[in-house]
Amino acid sequence: MVTPAELSMLFDSPDSFEDWIATAGFSEVGERHGCACCSALPALLSEITGETAPLLEAEHWAERGHAPDARVDGLWINAQVFTMDDALRVVDALAVKEGRILAVGKRAELEAEFGDDLTLIDAEGQIIVPGFIEPHMHFLPIATIGRLEDVGPYRFPKTEDAMRHLATLTTSLEDGQWLMGRQFDPALQEGPETLTRWMLDEVSSTHPILIYNASLHFAYCNSMALEVAGIDENTPDDPASPYGRDEKGFPNGVLKGGRAIGSVVKHNAQQRNYDLASAALDVCARANAKGITTFCDQATGMVQGTKEIELYQAMAQSGRMTARLRYSLSYALESQWDDLGIQFGHGSEWARAVGWKIVSDGSNQGFTGLQRAPYLFREDQGLAYVEPDRLNEMVLERTQRGWPLVIHANGDLAIDRVLDAFEATQDAGLELNSPCRIEHCSILHDDQIQRIKALGLSPSFLIGHVYYWGHAMRDQVFGEAKAALLDRTGACEEEGIRWTLHSDEPVTEMGPLRCIENAVTRSLWKEPGNQLAPQEAVSVMAALRAMTIDAAWQCHSDHEIGSLEVGKCADFVVLAQDPRSVPLDQISEIKVLETYVDGRKVYSARPGASDEV
Ligand SMILES: [Zn+2]
Ligand SMILES: [Zn+2]
Repeated sequence: MVTPAELSMLFDSPDSFEDWIATAGFSEVGERHGCACCSALPALLSEITGETAPLLEAEHWAERGHAPDARVDGLWINAQVFTMDDALRVVDALAVKEGRILAVGKRAELEAEFGDDLTLIDAEGQIIVPGFIEPHMHFLPIATIGRLEDVGPYRFPKTEDAMRHLATLTTSLEDGQWLMGRQFDPALQEGPETLTRWMLDEVSSTHPILIYNASLHFAYCNSMALEVAGIDENTPDDPASPYGRDEKGFPNGVLKGGRAIGSVVKHNAQQRNYDLASAALDVCARANAKGITTFCDQATGMVQGTKEIELYQAMAQSGRMTARLRYSLSYALESQWDDLGIQFGHGSEWARAVGWKIVSDGSNQGFTGLQRAPYLFREDQGLAYVEPDRLNEMVLERTQRGWPLVIHANGDLAIDRVLDAFEATQDAGLELNSPCRIEHCSILHDDQIQRIKALGLSPSFLIGHVYYWGHAMRDQVFGEAKAALLDRTGACEEEGIRWTLHSDEPVTEMGPLRCIENAVTRSLWKEPGNQLAPQEAVSVMAALRAMTIDAAWQCHSDHEIGSLEVGKCADFVVLAQDPRSVPLDQISEIKVLETYVDGRKVYSARPGASDEV
């Protein structure tokens, strides 16, 4: 996340920020249209993935990853099976055959019926839940940077430890080899507000180093990287994407925006041969380790344009996917999608188009979420990325064309406008392609909750806003009263509105159990013992629903995934403990023992397991 200090380095006033995005500093589908969470990515990532076209063919994918295990035709007994069906039944046995749920129910009955046919598996009291569904992440962006070294706050709370770690890595590099890192987040890591080339020269003066800020709006490089890139005091600045400089005008190693970053990264030849196929399968494997069996990319087309669909299809055909992919097309490529004739539902059980993504404003912690009233200590009210008329027009048109809408709206005024647009479409006599979603839906007033209910909309909350940034939302962004309106899971639950939780990775790391814990505790990472708006806390079962069946429903896939019911895909997770019976603040620590997708074991944490990730 960009810190206020970093923001002020870039923009003197909101006006200049507006100018800056208006100049489309990164690319046409960059800042101007981007999801706030990933807006700087396209230009950066096309630098990195520029030469990966051959990987689009399925046979290239099939050489990557592990060949999946055979399907298990099994009868799990002595389990606590959370079916997440309408009645939220918990039963003790689960039968699976040929990748589908054959039966759920009582051990005695299932054993009598299927015992001869299926391998008996004693779950020894463990918990089986439907595979978790991450309803909002950014798949290719994660794949593209995923293999760079993670030096972020979840791994290194102190920046100095991250630097020390990087220094140890340099010892195994070959001559001239680059060292690249990601996730540096001065807002969450203890240490300097920014990295400079002098700091990174301490890590290495002989290997080029480049570290991305978690927001990807910034990167930082050492002197060797600047030298390799031929950047010095005489290199002119791109006004939309300048180099940080010291008082004498020498580049200080801070790279502000996509073009500045790209001008350095492109000199790393290794990155140009980045194995995107393997990296994409790595994302699946990493998700499996967290118990995720399906995830939904929320802005397809933003990295490689419409080619991304071909890439998804090749990946699906390769037979190597270990997580199912759902995706929403980015509205930034509107005419190109139409030219291709992509319709809602395009694809297969493994990769399918399920939404039309619009980004209506920026982010609250970046002071670009569009607000009814000015931010705390400020006069500005954020930014509309789409003007109301255009928003109304798009919602109407896409509804007519059969698309469910998925609209990013963080600020309360942005949410007002999104609700207006949906109402206008209904008033025009059209029926929404339900469920339509509001993404992040961060600040919600009571009147808006009523309108969401009346329209049959469904919010998805980036619950890490509470946990990781709750203190900053309260003290720096909104003040206490408005911060209490952040991520109102409790109020929505009470109104019978279906809602979900998401990570928005790379904004926060995918972690369904962590999301569940955040929603049931409303705790603050930086203030142990404190909570933000504890009245919005929900029950464990409600949060579990949000990460399973309700997320499946939001991804238009609840006919095949999200609950353990007969005929659905055999996607499930074995947990070491019952999330209802551990202390609430320990839910995120529950061990994922095994993850199954399509009846195949895709992850195992059990000792001696060969397929441990
Ligand atoms: Zn977003
Ligand atoms: Zn997002």
